[in-house]
Formats: sequence, structure tokens, C-alpha cells
Amino acid sequence: MRRDIFSEEHELFRAQFQRFAAREIEPRIAEWNRAGITDRDTWRRMGAEGFLGPCMPEAYGGAGGDFLYDAVVIEELASLRAHGLMTTVHTSICMPYLVSYGSEEQKRRYLPPAIRGELILGICMTEPGTGSDLASIQTRAIRDGDSYVLNGAKTFISLGQLGGLFIVVAKTDPAARPPHKGISLLLVEADTPGFVRGRKLEKLGLQAQDTSEIFFEDCRVPRANLLGEEGQGFRMLMEKLQQERLSIGVGAVASCRRALTDTVAYVKQRHAFGQPIAAFQNTQFTLAELATEIEIGQAFVDKLLVAHVRGDEIVSEVSMAKWWTTDLQKRVTAQCLQLHGGYGFMLEYPIAMDYADAAVQSIYAGSNEIMKVIIARRMGLG
Ligand SMILES: Cc1cc2nc3c(=O)[nH]c(=O)nc-3n(C[C@H](O)[C@H](O)[C@H](O)COP(=O)(O)OP(=O)(O)OC[C@H]3O[C@@H](n4cnc5c(N)ncnc54)[C@H](O)[C@@H]3O)c2cc1C
Repeated sequence: MRRDIFSEEHELFRAQFQRFAAREIEPRIAEWNRAGITDRDTWRRMGAEGFLGPCMPEAYGGAGGDFLYDAVVIEELASLRAHGLMTTVHTSICMPYLVSYGSEEQKRRYLPPAIRGELILGICMTEPGTGSDLASIQTRAIRDGDSYVLNGAKTFISLGQLGGLFIVVAKTDPAARPPHKGISLLLVEADTPGFVRGRKLEKLGLQAQDTSEIFFEDCRVPRANLLGEEGQGFRMLMEKLQQERLSIGVGAVASCRRALTDTVAYVKQRHAFGQPIAAFQNTQFTLAELATEIEIGQAFVDKLLVAHVRGDEIVSEVSMAKWWTTDLQKRVTAQCLQLHGGYGFMLEYPIAMDYADAAVQSIYAGSNEIMKVIIARRMGLG
């Protein structure tokens, strides 16, 4: 169905990005998957062509567009299966923290190089002992003169090897009650003494994504690198999660489309019992049902994109979209894999990777169970 949320400018931007991606991204995906990491040159080229800051203020080198430009990049990367780049973390998740809560000095120092793709941004929330229960983090940032002394361990950090600046969630007041009131956000440069990159973790999917451990060992961070106010970290995180979760929904639906398109092509050319697999009613009904659900998902995500750009508060609805579209992605990839038969289990067929890549979508950015907790709470339940 024709989507009517994008303007002519958005579509021009999409065409421009598609040309860039065909030239600069697609040929590198296999190598990135083998290496377990993407490359800095591609980030710089993306920055130079304006694909890393389309929604950022012009004063810092962005293009001043709306979130639909980011959505275009998310869709195109998902469609190419270039999941390893995870530019969403950089552009749609981290940059908005700087724009909303950064001091003028922080914005001038970090946003221009980030938009140029020279400084890659990441966010460190999760720890080995806690993920969903963020208020229980153990990382401490204790004030000492003009610095915070940061100690703790983070894990599963996207862009953990490539990142040059991390938004670190830490307790500046470990005794605060309730505990979330003691949480603050610090901007930590990766070359600060005591910032230690740990292992790049071996994963089931997202092979090209350098998900890593990060440690802080008496890491001295200037007080000027506090983001926003002390003790306001949890509130800032909650405010920014809407866009993060919507981004996941946008990517999930685009990934579903790609898996479906490839599977439709596959079942037309694969034969069994003297006819194409596509001729079996089971194949037709399965794909018809999946196509229906993808259209439903797209309609919901598009409605939310428009509301988000308008500035509506849609925390419940975005939580609904996050769990539903990522569950859909898992169903779509599992059933499309099944229709590929044994070839679906072979890594040389992209559907096998689609299946593995889908698994994490219901876990990160707030697990799907946490999404239901949020929805239920907002319904007045519990
Ligand atoms: C590839 C990848 C990239 C990631 N990138 C980042 C990153 O860049 N930065 C970052 O900070 N983190 C990142 N994460 C971490 C991710 O956000 C966490 O894994 C996620 O929040 C879940 O936390 P956990 O793993 O500790 O699981 P847990 O919190 O231990 O949860 C385990 C299970 O219990 C369920 N559960 C927990 N609480 C409840 C509840 N109240 N009700 C019902 N069920 C519940 C969960 O839904 C889950 O099924 C990444 C993770 C992965 C795998």
C-alpha cells in the first residue's frame, strides 16, 4: 500500500541514501559480518553525505529535519540487512540526549564530530547484574573536587569498540531512596584513563555489531561532563525511550518486508512434487497471513511516526508497537525460514541470518515483557 507519511523531500533523501548504500554499504556487509565489526571509514562517509545528522539542528552541522529522515535510514539499513552499523544508537538514541540536555559547550564539542561520523556515540546502561531493573545499577560516580570518579562494569554495549563517547548511567548518590533518584548521566570520552574496553562479545545474531563489555576503573570524569542535572538521569532516560522504541518498530517492519519479499521469490523458483512450492495452499496461506500482519504493523508504525513528529506523548502506543512488531519479526523470519526448507538453515541463505538477527529485537531497548509492564501500568493495573 502506498505510504503517505513521507514528503517529496523525504523520498528524495531516501533515493539518495539508497544510491549511497548500494555503493558504500552493501558491498561491505559480508566482510563486516566476518570481522564482527563495521569500519570507521564508512561512518565518516555516511557523515560526510549527511546521513548521520539529518534531524540534528543546523547550528551543529545537522540538516534540521524531522525524525522521518532517521526513519528512512533505519528502514533502508534494515532492508539491506546492514544491522551491524547500528547507526540508530548513534543518531536516534544518543544524539537527542545531547540536544535536549547538553550544555552549549557539550553540544559544540560533541555534536559536530558525531554528525560528521568522526565521533561514534554509545550508551552504557546495562550491567552484568542488571538490565531491565535499571534502578539497581551498581556503577558509581562519586564526586571528588572537580571530577566524578567512576567505577563499575557495563555489558552488551552496542558500538563498544568503535565508540568514542558514551553516555554512562551511574549512581552519583548510591544511598538515594527511591534508588532511581540517585542516578545521573555522564559523558565519558573513550580515551579517558580508567575507561577500559572489554571483550567484543560472541553473539547469535547481529554479527557485525561490536557489542562489548566496558569497565570503569577509577575513571576520572570532569564535572563539566555531567549531562543535565545530578539525580535526574532516570527521568531523562524515561523521556528519551519513546524514540528508541519507535526506531526498533520501524526497523522491525522493514526487516519483515525484506524477509517476505525474498521468500516470495524463493517459493516461486523452488519445486517439489512437480510444482513450485508457491503452488501449495499452505505456502500461499502462510505468506498471505504474514503479508497481512506486516501491513497492519506498518500502518500502526506509520501512525506513531506521525504522532511522534507532532510531539505527542505516545509512550503506551510505542511500547505496544515495540513488542508487537518485534514478535511479528520473529514469527515472519521463523515461518519464512521454514518455507526455505533445509536451505533456510544454511547461513549462505540470508533468511537464516534474518532468523538469528530477529531474536534480540524482543530483548533490547526494554524487553517485550517490560513493554507489557509499562502498558499495563498505564492502564491502571498494578
Ligand atoms: C545485541 C545487544 C545490544 C545491546 N545494546 C545495549 C546498549 O548499547 N546499551 C545498553 O545499555 N544495553 C544494551 N543491551 C542490553 C539490553 O538492553 C538488555 O539485555 C535488556 O534490557 C534486558 O536486560 P537483561 O539482559 O539484564 O535481562 P533481565 O533484565 O535479566 O531479564 C531477563 C528476563 O526476565 C524478564 N523480566 C525482567 N523483569 C521483568 C518484569 N518486571 N516482569 C516480567 N518479566 C521481566 C525479561 O523480560 C527477560 O525475559 C544490548 C543487548 C544486546 C543483546
